[in-house]
Amino acid sequence: MNLSEIFCQDKAVNTLTRAFETGRIPHAYIFEGIDGIGKYTTANVWAKLLLCKSPVKNDACGKCPSCLAFDADSHPDFHHIYKELIKLSNDANKRKRQAIELPVDVIREFLVDKVQLKPSLSESKVFIVSEAEKLNKASQNLLLKTLEEPPNKSFIILLCTKLEDLLPTTKSRCQIVHFRPLSEEKIIEYLAEKNVNKPALSEASPKGEQEAKFWARLTGGSLGQSELLTQLEPSFYGIKKELIERLSKFQVSDAVDFAQWLNSSSSAPSESWQKLKPDTSKSDLSRQAKKVIVSIIISAFTDAMKISFAGADKMTHFDQSAQIKRLAERFCPEDCADIIELCYEMIRFIDASVNEKLVFEHLLLNCADYGIIKVS
Ligand SMILES: [Zn+2]
Repeated sequence: MNLSEIFCQDKAVNTLTRAFETGRIPHAYIFEGIDGIGKYTTANVWAKLLLCKSPVKNDACGKCPSCLAFDADSHPDFHHIYKELIKLSNDANKRKRQAIELPVDVIREFLVDKVQLKPSLSESKVFIVSEAEKLNKASQNLLLKTLEEPPNKSFIILLCTKLEDLLPTTKSRCQIVHFRPLSEEKIIEYLAEKNVNKPALSEASPKGEQEAKFWARLTGGSLGQSELLTQLEPSFYGIKKELIERLSKFQVSDAVDFAQWLNSSSSAPSESWQKLKPDTSKSDLSRQAKKVIVSIIISAFTDAMKISFAGADKMTHFDQSAQIKRLAERFCPEDCADIIELCYEMIRFIDASVNEKLVFEHLLLNCADYGIIKVS
């Protein structure tokens, strides 16, 4: 792949291409945008180009020793930094730690120490840092000097979903490149093409298009997330359909049962998820699955709030408008807003690994304080 083949990120690609053409390439970049819109893919293509020994126009040549090593995943001057690297630390005690934040030990051992060493195959070194929004304060402070003036002509690319989580001192040392969410149409088109062998998602199937459209809306235009969620087994779309059906009829007496069902449903696709994301830890995947479930609930209550003034076709759950109507009849807009607020609190609990097992129970029992209890 080369830069011109990056899907639907023309502005970001132009920024990089211009820098390469003029030879004024910043040594520290932040690629900013939601998950699954091509930040990592672009960073990879960019890294290969920066390391290439004889670029052709704005592309890596694909033939030099650097390009060959890069394609074989064995380039000694290319480093991908992510929080799970703590499991590979030289220190046995550190290996035991859970990877929730990007700890200072990972940044020190795998970036700051390594950047001091001279490149061995190319003229420079490239470091990509995934989930930079999880760099804690100590990690960012340790990085500052390296970001300001990376030794050995190195390049550092921070991939970040939430710019506001980075310190101003970190941001001011980097050039920020924004990556935009994709349009619904582009995601549907891409998934239909990608899934020609999966009948339910092929272009010919309206059901497949419905699923693609739903994930495009739920993920706010993330192609990567939409693609991932359509590939899970058992089908996460099937789970969402049942979830909305159950939610629309939910009674307080069902809370514990329903919570258990949500817990088991969120872990059901974990095996297929692990295959698609082998680098991500099991506990992280479990947190992500739970967050998808909570975001489905948030979108259902958002739809219920909007249904009186927006058409059913504008909703995220356009495919289950009868259930959303039922939800809207049972919960007034103020209740919906309170429940949505509660859901965001649950997401913060999940992110902080607090009460993870009890998240759904807590959420559903709290719903009892709202409209639901007054309705038979
Ligand atoms: Zn090359």
